[in-house]
Amino acid sequence: APPAEKFEYQAEVSRLMDLIVNSLYSNKDVFLRELISNASDALDKLRFLSVTDTQLLKDGVDLDIRIQADKDNGIITITDSGIGMTRQELVDCLGTIAQSGTAKFLKALKESKDAGADSNLIGQFGVGFYSAFLVSERVEVSTKSPKSDKQYVWEGEANSSSYTIREETDPAKLIPRGTRLTLYLKHDDKGYAHPERIQKLVKNYSLFVSFPIYTWQEKGYTKEVEVDEDPAEASKDEQDGKTEKKKKTKTVVERYWDWELTNETQPIWLRNPKEVTTEEYNEFYKKTFNEYLEPLASSHFTTEGEVEFRSILYVPSIAATGKDDIVNPKTKNIRLYVKRVFISDDFDGELFPRYLSFIKGVVDSNDLPLNVSREILQESRIVRIMRKRLVRKAFDMILGITMSEDKDDYVKFWENFGKHIKLGCIEDRENHKRIAPLLRFFSSQSEEDMISLDEYVENMKPEQKDIYYIAADSVASARNTPFLEKLIEKDIEVLFLVDPIDEVAIQNLKSYKEKNFVDISKEDLDLGDKNEEKEKEIKQEFGQTCDWIKKRLGDRVASVQVSNRLSTSPCVLASGKFGWSANMERLMKAQTV
Ligand code: ADP
Ligand code: MG
Repeated sequence: APPAEKFEYQAEVSRLMDLIVNSLYSNKDVFLRELISNASDALDKLRFLSVTDTQLLKDGVDLDIRIQADKDNGIITITDSGIGMTRQELVDCLGTIAQSGTAKFLKALKESKDAGADSNLIGQFGVGFYSAFLVSERVEVSTKSPKSDKQYVWEGEANSSSYTIREETDPAKLIPRGTRLTLYLKHDDKGYAHPERIQKLVKNYSLFVSFPIYTWQEKGYTKEVEVDEDPAEASKDEQDGKTEKKKKTKTVVERYWDWELTNETQPIWLRNPKEVTTEEYNEFYKKTFNEYLEPLASSHFTTEGEVEFRSILYVPSIAATGKDDIVNPKTKNIRLYVKRVFISDDFDGELFPRYLSFIKGVVDSNDLPLNVSREILQESRIVRIMRKRLVRKAFDMILGITMSEDKDDYVKFWENFGKHIKLGCIEDRENHKRIAPLLRFFSSQSEEDMISLDEYVENMKPEQKDIYYIAADSVASARNTPFLEKLIEKDIEVLFLVDPIDEVAIQNLKSYKEKNFVDISKEDLDLGDKNEEKEKEIKQEFGQTCDWIKKRLGDRVASVQVSNRLSTSPCVLASGKFGWSANMERLMKAQTV
């Protein structure tokens, strides 16, 4: 065969390799994910082309990926039976940056460097084929394309500006089709060449790649073997008068090596929702998120059109203490996959607003590049559209819980996540219409069970225009406020806002179904029962009394007025129309001490 030919990398490739080796070592694990995803892409291409060219599959080789780790020598081989590469393709694909994903990555990296961002952060998103050099000092790519009758070997070393290509001549290394990567690991990274470590990485990053991934594993089975009898035992038997020799058996473990299927080729989210059982969804949830409780609800959907993605979302049954804190949206609750390859679960509001960060789930998109960085995520139009759809689906799912046969489900939800939803009133104006029907409050007519705004509206008096509320620190103190007297007399329901966040949430909503929220502790409360004549009369009669009281109280009150809002109490302290409510005043005070 002709000798190996030497090639120089395109300048960008050299630069990228330099970067990889020198600065992107924050998460070396991704090398395997990148190489598996290339193998999976190569299999995809073959499968796609074979639809019109059945000849491509004539060798009858299965479409799969096989990974073998040789721990004694620190070598990993990754073999796929995909489309392979011709000699020219080796030069084009592994010697230049033709691929837009990698080019984009370089651009993003440059921008983030200019912005002073940490390049390690980007390292975790991977850099395609060259990430092999994160752990390898030498890489061999032996590949056979159906377009060529020869198999070629590409060879590159870390810290080198050139690579070589030669024909494969070793008959033992010939493959019918596809690509075999051999990674000769760096001294410090030889630990990757352990079957268990490989298995773990595959399960973590590539569990749902749609082709079978086999890893070479040591196995064992037990068997019974006959052993010669212990001489001491035998002589004992003889003494007992038993002369016949007995055969004894012993259990031994027989060790051998074999391929083991390591991934799940059909991820649950790719299946038809009609064919997946609730048990399967729950199992997947528990396995993926290390949960032991079943979720309260789940939603499995596909979106089409502008952006295509599949997702399964879950509402956990309890709020995690600490890490699901509303103020800390970095929950690792959403796992993003691109073409079934795990990309990241490290989000900070990109896919869900922080008040919905308790939602767990998986999102799989075909429209994002594999080497998507945090920066790209934040700026991507695709991600913005995804976020919008995800949020809507999350609301549909939560609304579904309100309709659950088991009334306790929503009670449970509200206990755990009511605060989050109320935060949504404050932070997400755009979704007020979706948030409002989910709110629950105690009321003057329902002190035990919380009611929805819909239930309130249904119970409104025919002439009633507004939704009334009073904010207090407990149901008991709300019930005892004199402001309620008149409304109770008129049998008008009043919402009790007893959670500190309630009042701000309601004020942000402003109205529900065109009915304004009205604080009954504010001056000017109009219950539609004004008798102008009589009021004038009384105001005149008590004018002097009011002046006298105002004089006595001085600056402690803004004004003293005759009002028709009480029925049994002689007087009440009301808040000004534009001022803080008493409850807010109390909260503000609590915050400033
Ligand atoms: P990307 O996967 O984003 O294209 P990579 O750097 O991971 O970028 O790979 C570069 C190119 O090398 C791929 O686009 C593909 O053409 C080729 N390639 C890499 N691995 C394989 C493989 N196992 N089989 C066939 N082609 C491959
Ligand atoms: Mg790739």
